[in-house]
Amino acid sequence: MIEVQGITKSFEGLQVLKGVDLRVDAGEIVSIVGPSGAGKTTLLQIMGTLDRPDSGRVSFDGEDPLSMNASRLARFRNRNVGFVFQFHQLLPEFTLLENVAMPALIGGRKRSDAFAAARRLVDYLGLSQRMDHRPSELSGGERQRAAVARALVNDPMAVLADEPSGSLDSRNRAELHRLFFDLRRDFGQTFVIVTHDENLAADTDRRIMMADGMITSIETK
Ligand code: ATP
Repeated sequence: MIEVQGITKSFEGLQVLKGVDLRVDAGEIVSIVGPSGAGKTTLLQIMGTLDRPDSGRVSFDGEDPLSMNASRLARFRNRNVGFVFQFHQLLPEFTLLENVAMPALIGGRKRSDAFAAARRLVDYLGLSQRMDHRPSELSGGERQRAAVARALVNDPMAVLADEPSGSLDSRNRAELHRLFFDLRRDFGQTFVIVTHDENLAADTDRRIMMADGMITSIETK
């Protein structure tokens, strides 16, 4: 369970988060929606420990990442959080399989274990025919599925996704959305998804609406 409490954050004197409380339980799929500039990405980055709040608390099953030094925090983040961004951010010089294995290798897992975990995910996602291809040789949908596989390789507590289908066409978007729900059904995976896609948001367990640095309402499905 990931919980943030009383989160505030300012950039250059502009307060973009004004006291946000949110708790995401294991196995939940939660969306965060709201107008541009509402603070959605900033909140996701703080939940994912990529950024620090000015005040407030962050807790992962009772552990406090904000109290960790930089190297311990990097290990903690690698182990507990998977990230998916709007643009896949796969490394162009590595194959699909190597990209998926990367967080496990960075986390110090044995090479054979890292690649075995990556291969299982690549198979699950139907990408095994493509695993030796470089990102430039993959379709947009394949690249984004590879990015999801990479986010999952360390079996994180949650996957945090920022506009994950924002660069996809409608067919690939629908497929990616289905994948999130399949991953929850098959592995109990937890997702927090910032999205402008109302179809996806409407399907999630809770739709968190943000405006002007605050949560303004929450709709439960
Ligand atoms: P969008 O839907 O457009 O992605 P958002 O709701 O995700 O918007 P954020 O990206 O969290 O909004 O940004 C909230 C505000 O904080 C914006 O005014 C943005 O310009 C500002 N901001 C975000 N990151 C930084 C930064 N690193 N430095 C300065 N200002 C920032």
